[in-house]
Amino acid sequence: MKCNYHTHSTYCDGKEMLFRFVEEASRLHFDQLGFSSHSPVSFENDFGIKEEKIPDYIAEIQQLKVQYPELQLFTALECDFIPGITRPFSDFQKQYHLDYIIGGVHLVKPQDSSQLWFIDGSKIETYDNGLADLFHHDIKKAVSAFWEQTFEMIETQHFDIIAHLDKIKMHNQKRFFTESEDWYLRLVDHSLELIKQKALIVEINSRGIYKKRCPDFYPSDYILQKISKLKIPMVISSDAHQSEELSMCYEATIQKLRSFGIYQLMYLKQGKWEEYSI
Ligand SMILES: [Zn+2]
Ligand SMILES: [Zn+2]
Repeated sequence: MKCNYHTHSTYCDGKEMLFRFVEEASRLHFDQLGFSSHSPVSFENDFGIKEEKIPDYIAEIQQLKVQYPELQLFTALECDFIPGITRPFSDFQKQYHLDYIIGGVHLVKPQDSSQLWFIDGSKIETYDNGLADLFHHDIKKAVSAFWEQTFEMIETQHFDIIAHLDKIKMHNQKRFFTESEDWYLRLVDHSLELIKQKALIVEINSRGIYKKRCPDFYPSDYILQKISKLKIPMVISSDAHQSEELSMCYEATIQKLRSFGIYQLMYLKQGKWEEYSI
Protein backbone atom coordinates (compact mmCIF):
# COMPACT_ATOMS: atom_id res chain seq x y z
CA MET A 1 0.00 0.00 0.00
CA LYS A 2 1.15 3.51 -0.80
CA CYS A 3 -0.99 6.28 0.65
CA ASN A 4 -0.99 9.99 1.36
CA TYR A 5 -3.88 11.73 3.06
CA HIS A 6 -2.66 15.29 3.45
CA THR A 7 -2.55 17.31 0.21
CA HIS A 8 -3.12 21.00 -0.63
CA SER A 9 -3.98 22.29 -4.11
CA THR A 10 -4.78 25.70 -5.62
CA TYR A 11 -8.16 25.48 -3.88
CA CYS A 12 -6.27 26.62 -0.78
CA ASP A 13 -2.56 27.48 -0.44
CA GLY A 14 -1.21 24.68 -2.66
CA LYS A 15 0.69 25.51 -5.83
CA GLU A 16 -0.86 23.15 -8.39
CA MET A 17 -4.29 22.03 -9.51
CA LEU A 18 -5.84 18.82 -8.26
CA PHE A 19 -5.24 16.86 -11.47
CA ARG A 20 -1.46 17.36 -11.25
CA PHE A 21 -1.38 15.54 -7.91
CA VAL A 22 -3.53 12.77 -9.30
CA GLU A 23 -1.28 12.35 -12.35
CA GLU A 24 1.78 12.17 -10.11
CA ALA A 25 0.17 9.76 -7.63
CA SER A 26 -0.88 7.54 -10.50
CA ARG A 27 2.62 7.64 -12.03
CA LEU A 28 4.10 6.62 -8.66
CA HIS A 29 1.52 3.83 -8.21
CA PHE A 30 -0.10 5.23 -5.10
CA ASP A 31 -3.15 3.26 -3.90
CA GLN A 32 -4.85 6.11 -2.05
CA LEU A 33 -4.62 9.88 -2.24
CA GLY A 34 -6.59 12.26 -0.04
CA PHE A 35 -7.08 15.98 -0.61
CA SER A 36 -7.24 18.13 2.50
CA SER A 37 -7.68 21.81 1.71
CA HIS A 38 -7.40 24.17 4.66
CA SER A 39 -10.90 24.78 5.98
CA PRO A 40 -12.54 28.17 5.41
CA VAL A 41 -12.22 30.54 8.35
CA SER A 42 -14.29 33.63 9.16
CA PHE A 43 -11.48 36.20 8.87
CA GLU A 44 -9.49 37.49 5.89
CA ASN A 45 -6.74 35.00 4.97
CA ASP A 46 -4.79 33.59 2.03
CA PHE A 47 -4.56 29.94 3.08
CA GLY A 48 -8.08 28.52 3.47
CA ILE A 49 -10.44 27.31 0.74
CA LYS A 50 -13.26 29.78 0.11
CA GLU A 51 -16.51 28.35 1.39
CA GLU A 52 -18.26 28.96 -1.95
CA LYS A 53 -15.56 26.92 -3.72
CA ILE A 54 -16.13 23.73 -1.73
CA PRO A 55 -18.82 22.35 -4.10
CA ASP A 56 -16.39 22.78 -7.06
CA TYR A 57 -13.62 21.11 -5.05
CA ILE A 58 -15.84 18.12 -4.35
CA ALA A 59 -17.09 17.92 -7.95
CA GLU A 60 -13.58 18.08 -9.39
CA ILE A 61 -12.36 15.25 -7.16
CA GLN A 62 -15.43 13.27 -8.18
CA GLN A 63 -14.55 13.77 -11.83
CA LEU A 64 -10.93 12.70 -11.24
CA LYS A 65 -12.20 9.51 -9.58
CA VAL A 66 -13.86 8.60 -12.86
CA GLN A 67 -10.74 9.41 -14.88
CA TYR A 68 -8.38 7.48 -12.58
CA PRO A 69 -10.25 4.39 -11.40
CA GLU A 70 -6.99 2.66 -10.40
CA LEU A 71 -6.40 5.25 -7.69
CA GLN A 72 -8.67 5.74 -4.67
CA LEU A 73 -9.25 9.45 -4.15
CA PHE A 74 -10.72 11.06 -1.06
CA THR A 75 -12.26 14.43 -0.24
CA ALA A 76 -11.23 15.88 3.08
CA LEU A 77 -10.42 19.14 4.84
CA GLU A 78 -7.61 20.13 7.17
CA CYS A 79 -9.69 21.99 9.72
CA ASP A 80 -8.18 24.74 11.80
CA PHE A 81 -9.13 24.87 15.44
CA ILE A 82 -9.20 28.27 17.16
CA PRO A 83 -11.38 28.38 20.29
CA GLY A 84 -14.35 30.72 19.95
CA ILE A 85 -13.52 31.49 16.32
CA THR A 86 -13.67 28.40 14.11
CA ARG A 87 -16.83 26.44 13.37
CA PRO A 88 -17.26 22.94 14.79
CA PHE A 89 -15.54 20.41 12.51
CA SER A 90 -18.76 18.36 12.52
CA ASP A 91 -20.51 21.20 10.61
CA PHE A 92 -18.20 20.59 7.65
CA GLN A 93 -18.67 16.85 7.95
CA LYS A 94 -22.44 17.15 7.92
CA GLN A 95 -22.60 19.72 5.16
CA TYR A 96 -20.10 18.20 2.73
CA HIS A 97 -20.03 14.45 3.56
CA LEU A 98 -16.25 14.38 3.72
CA ASP A 99 -14.31 11.11 3.73
CA TYR A 100 -12.34 12.25 6.78
CA ILE A 101 -11.15 15.35 8.62
CA ILE A 102 -7.62 16.31 9.64
CA GLY A 103 -7.53 18.62 12.65
CA GLY A 104 -4.70 21.04 13.23
CA VAL A 105 -3.55 24.11 15.10
CA HIS A 106 -1.74 26.76 13.05
CA LEU A 107 -2.95 29.90 14.82
CA VAL A 108 -2.67 30.10 18.59
CA LYS A 109 -5.07 32.33 20.49
CA PRO A 110 -3.72 33.73 23.78
CA GLN A 111 -6.34 33.74 26.56
CA ASP A 112 -6.07 37.48 27.11
CA SER A 113 -6.01 38.66 23.50
CA SER A 114 -8.07 38.51 20.34
CA GLN A 115 -4.95 38.49 18.17
CA LEU A 116 -3.57 35.21 16.84
CA TRP A 117 -0.04 33.81 16.85
CA PHE A 118 0.74 32.20 13.47
CA ILE A 119 3.22 29.42 14.22
CA ASP A 120 3.44 27.98 10.69
CA GLY A 121 4.54 29.43 7.34
CA SER A 122 7.95 30.24 5.97
CA LYS A 123 8.82 33.28 8.06
CA ILE A 124 10.60 32.79 11.36
CA GLU A 125 10.02 36.51 12.14
CA THR A 126 6.27 35.91 12.32
CA TYR A 127 6.88 33.36 15.08
CA ASP A 128 9.33 35.59 16.91
CA ASN A 129 7.13 38.68 16.66
CA GLY A 130 4.10 36.80 17.97
CA LEU A 131 6.14 35.43 20.84
CA ALA A 132 7.23 38.97 21.72
CA ASP A 133 3.97 40.85 21.15
CA LEU A 134 1.37 38.33 22.33
CA PHE A 135 3.32 36.44 24.99
CA HIS A 136 5.94 39.02 26.05
CA HIS A 137 8.76 36.58 25.20
CA ASP A 138 7.42 34.01 27.69
CA ILE A 139 8.12 30.88 25.63
CA LYS A 140 6.67 28.53 28.24
CA LYS A 141 3.40 30.44 28.22
CA ALA A 142 3.35 30.57 24.41
CA VAL A 143 4.15 26.89 23.85
CA SER A 144 1.73 25.86 26.60
CA ALA A 145 -0.99 27.88 24.85
CA PHE A 146 -0.35 25.87 21.66
CA TRP A 147 -0.66 22.57 23.50
CA GLU A 148 -3.71 23.68 25.52
CA GLN A 149 -5.41 24.61 22.24
CA THR A 150 -4.45 21.19 20.85
CA PHE A 151 -5.97 19.50 23.94
CA GLU A 152 -9.18 21.50 23.53
CA MET A 153 -9.38 20.51 19.86
CA ILE A 154 -8.98 16.83 20.74
CA GLU A 155 -11.57 17.04 23.50
CA THR A 156 -14.22 19.06 21.70
CA GLN A 157 -13.97 18.32 17.95
CA HIS A 158 -14.83 15.29 15.82
CA PHE A 159 -12.02 14.38 13.43
CA ASP A 160 -9.89 11.47 12.26
CA ILE A 161 -6.26 12.54 11.99
CA ILE A 162 -4.24 15.01 14.00
CA ALA A 163 -1.98 17.15 11.80
CA HIS A 164 1.73 17.77 12.52
CA LEU A 165 1.29 17.18 16.25
CA ASP A 166 4.38 19.09 17.43
CA LYS A 167 4.46 21.83 14.78
CA ILE A 168 5.26 24.30 17.54
CA LYS A 169 8.91 23.17 17.46
CA MET A 170 9.39 24.22 13.81
CA HIS A 171 10.41 27.86 14.20
CA ASN A 172 11.85 27.33 17.67
CA GLN A 173 14.91 25.73 16.11
CA LYS A 174 16.29 24.95 19.55
CA ARG A 175 16.53 28.68 20.38
CA PHE A 176 13.94 29.20 23.14
CA PHE A 177 13.30 25.74 24.58
CA THR A 178 14.47 22.16 24.15
CA GLU A 179 12.05 19.32 23.62
CA SER A 180 13.51 17.37 26.55
CA GLU A 181 12.48 19.87 29.23
CA ASP A 182 10.09 18.42 31.82
CA TRP A 183 7.33 20.99 31.37
CA TYR A 184 7.36 20.34 27.59
CA LEU A 185 7.31 16.56 27.95
CA ARG A 186 4.36 16.78 30.33
CA LEU A 187 2.38 18.63 27.65
CA VAL A 188 3.38 16.11 24.99
CA ASP A 189 2.48 13.17 27.23
CA HIS A 190 -0.91 14.64 28.00
CA SER A 191 -1.66 15.11 24.31
CA LEU A 192 -0.92 11.42 23.71
CA GLU A 193 -3.19 10.36 26.58
CA LEU A 194 -6.04 12.34 25.02
CA ILE A 195 -5.29 11.02 21.52
CA LYS A 196 -5.36 7.47 22.83
CA GLN A 197 -8.66 8.08 24.65
CA LYS A 198 -10.27 9.54 21.54
CA ALA A 199 -8.81 6.83 19.24
CA LEU A 200 -7.36 9.45 16.92
CA ILE A 201 -4.81 8.78 14.19
CA VAL A 202 -1.48 10.64 14.31
CA GLU A 203 0.22 11.45 11.02
CA ILE A 204 3.95 11.28 10.45
CA ASN A 205 4.56 14.42 8.42
CA SER A 206 7.76 15.07 6.48
CA ARG A 207 7.10 18.65 5.32
CA GLY A 208 9.47 20.30 7.81
CA ILE A 209 12.34 18.16 6.55
CA TYR A 210 11.97 18.62 2.80
CA LYS A 211 11.19 22.34 3.18
CA LYS A 212 14.34 22.51 5.34
CA ARG A 213 12.46 24.28 8.13
CA CYS A 214 13.03 21.60 10.73
CA PRO A 215 15.48 18.69 10.93
CA ASP A 216 12.86 16.22 12.24
CA PHE A 217 9.58 14.70 11.25
CA TYR A 218 6.44 15.81 13.03
CA PRO A 219 6.28 14.24 15.52
CA SER A 220 9.78 13.95 17.01
CA ASP A 221 11.48 10.72 18.04
CA TYR A 222 10.39 10.91 21.69
CA ILE A 223 6.75 11.06 20.58
CA LEU A 224 7.15 8.29 18.00
CA GLN A 225 8.57 6.06 20.70
CA LYS A 226 5.55 6.74 22.92
CA ILE A 227 3.15 6.25 20.01
CA SER A 228 4.71 2.87 19.34
CA LYS A 229 4.37 1.86 23.00
CA LEU A 230 0.78 3.11 23.27
CA LYS A 231 -0.12 1.53 19.91
CA ILE A 232 -1.62 4.77 18.60
CA PRO A 233 -2.60 4.38 14.92
CA MET A 234 -0.68 6.34 12.30
CA VAL A 235 -0.79 7.44 8.65
CA ILE A 236 1.90 8.83 6.36
CA SER A 237 1.54 12.44 5.19
CA SER A 238 3.85 14.55 3.13
CA ASP A 239 1.56 17.59 3.43
CA ALA A 240 2.28 18.26 -0.26
CA HIS A 241 1.56 21.72 -1.66
CA GLN A 242 2.87 20.75 -5.11
CA SER A 243 2.80 17.40 -6.87
CA GLU A 244 6.53 16.64 -6.63
CA GLU A 245 6.18 16.76 -2.83
CA LEU A 246 3.80 13.79 -2.77
CA SER A 247 6.59 11.24 -2.55
CA MET A 248 9.15 13.37 -0.69
CA CYS A 249 10.91 11.47 2.11
CA TYR A 250 8.58 8.49 1.55
CA GLU A 251 11.24 5.81 2.05
CA ALA A 252 12.85 7.72 4.93
CA THR A 253 9.43 7.96 6.57
CA ILE A 254 8.92 4.20 6.36
CA GLN A 255 12.44 3.62 7.73
CA LYS A 256 11.80 6.02 10.60
CA LEU A 257 8.59 4.22 11.57
CA ARG A 258 10.21 0.81 11.41
CA SER A 259 13.09 2.02 13.58
CA PHE A 260 10.51 2.62 16.32
CA GLY A 261 8.86 -0.75 15.84
CA ILE A 262 5.89 0.74 14.01
CA TYR A 263 4.90 -1.72 11.27
CA GLN A 264 1.16 -1.02 10.96
CA LEU A 265 -0.43 2.01 9.34
CA MET A 266 -4.03 2.91 8.65
CA TYR A 267 -5.86 3.12 5.33
CA LEU A 268 -9.45 3.78 4.38
CA LYS A 269 -11.46 0.75 3.46
CA GLN A 270 -15.09 1.43 2.58
CA GLY A 271 -15.21 4.44 4.86
CA LYS A 272 -13.47 2.80 7.83
CA TRP A 273 -9.84 3.05 8.92
CA GLU A 274 -8.11 -0.34 8.82
CA GLU A 275 -4.56 -1.51 9.33
CA TYR A 276 -1.99 -2.54 6.75
CA SER A 277 1.61 -3.62 7.20
CA ILE A 278 4.71 -1.81 6.09
ZN1 LIG B 1 -1.23 22.08 8.60
ZN1 LIG C 1 -1.45 20.83 5.62
